[in-house]
Order: sequence, then C-alpha cells, then structure tokens
Amino acid sequence: MLVATSSEGKMREIRDALAPLGLELLSLTDIGWTAEIAESGSTFEANALIKATAVAEATAMAALADDSGLEVDVLDGQPGVNSSRFAGPEADDMDRNRILVERLVATGEPPPWAAQYRCVLAYVEPEREPVTFEGVLRGAIVPEARGCGGFGYDPHFLLPERGVTVGEIPLASKQEISHRGQALRRFLLWHKARAAEAARSE
Ligand code: IMP
Repeated sequence: MLVATSSEGKMREIRDALAPLGLELLSLTDIGWTAEIAESGSTFEANALIKATAVAEATAMAALADDSGLEVDVLDGQPGVNSSRFAGPEADDMDRNRILVERLVATGEPPPWAAQYRCVLAYVEPEREPVTFEGVLRGAIVPEARGCGGFGYDPHFLLPERGVTVGEIPLASKQEISHRGQALRRFLLWHKARAAEAARSE
C-alpha cells in the first residue's frame, strides 16, 4: 500500500500502527515521487483526499494519505490546514515552533494556550469509493520546548492532565491518544472488517 507522504515523522507512526495489516507500506520517498501535490483544499479532509487520489490515480495502486495539523483556540483554529506552510516554504520545525509561540505571545493571552491536533486519513483504491477517518487530540501549547520525541509541534504540545508534552512521551503512548493514532485505529478496524466480509463472500 502506498502512503502519500514524505514526512518521516508521520511515516514512523503510520508504519507502527498499521503493522497488524502485514502489508508493505511505501512512502512517496520510497517510490521516488518528487512531483508537488498542491494541497488546495480548505479542510483536512479535502487535502487528504487530494493527496490519496493523486497517488492512487498515478500508480493504479491503493493509497492512504494523512492531512493533519494544529488548531489553536486563541487563533480561531489557525494554523489549521496551513500548519506545515504558515511560516513560509523554507521554515523547519524549529522555525515554525518559534513563530507560533511569537504569535501566541502577541495575543496577550497567558500560556498555556488551548489547542488541538486534528488528523484526517483518506484511503483511495482504484474503482472504489474513497473513505476517510478522523481523530482529534486536545491539549495546550507551552512557550518552552520540552522533550525531543515525536516531531513537529510535539515538544510544545502539553497534555494538561499528564503535565508532560507529547515530546516527552514514548511513541507507544502517543499512539494510544493521538489524533493520528485514533484515525489509524479507525482505518485498521474498517480494513479488517472489509477483509472479513470479502472472505465470507468467497
Ligand atoms: P501536512 O503534511 O500538510 O499534513 O502538515 C502537517 C503539519 O502539522 C506539519 O507541520 C506537522 O508538523 C504538523 N503535525 C501534524 N501532526 C503532528 C503531530 O503528530 N505532531 C506534531 N506536529 C504535527
């Protein structure tokens, strides 16, 4: 199965969660895909469908795509679908985290700033209806980075009831609670149910 992402962080989590499928999962990097896919949608769902459809149509293979990001309450849900782009094309994770915190400080509201991660997975198979799966993780953004686990905004994403950031917890703990972990479990259940139904009707 193809996974329409070049993100190492996402791929690590997707491979880990989908190991029970026993399928070989190939990222865009693995297949040498270099073409830009314009994420022109205004929702995570639209962009996940754009990515999965582009890859499934180009390869005639099943493709799974993840579109995800951070929605901060005091920024009215921004950066949202622009989470990987709002700080400019050259920015890396550290730049994005710094610019995000600067914007949050500029609101005048005290930290931590309530926020959530959202993930939508889209799965597209040739000749079949596309399906999508969603997950949301509530938390709050802290000004100082803590921990070096995960990727992206994780060192700034506090889990208030645990008193740690997602950067401070192991991958297995992140998978249990995260937006992507939830969406991947929903996909896994759907995939297993469909395989069981196909086996019954053979
Ligand atoms: P996409 O590739 O357009 O879906 O962009 C996703 C953006 O949201 C990237 O900038 C990521 O850093 C951020 N993001 C999504 N999921 C996570 C996560 O689990 N941890 C940290 N950052 C995330």
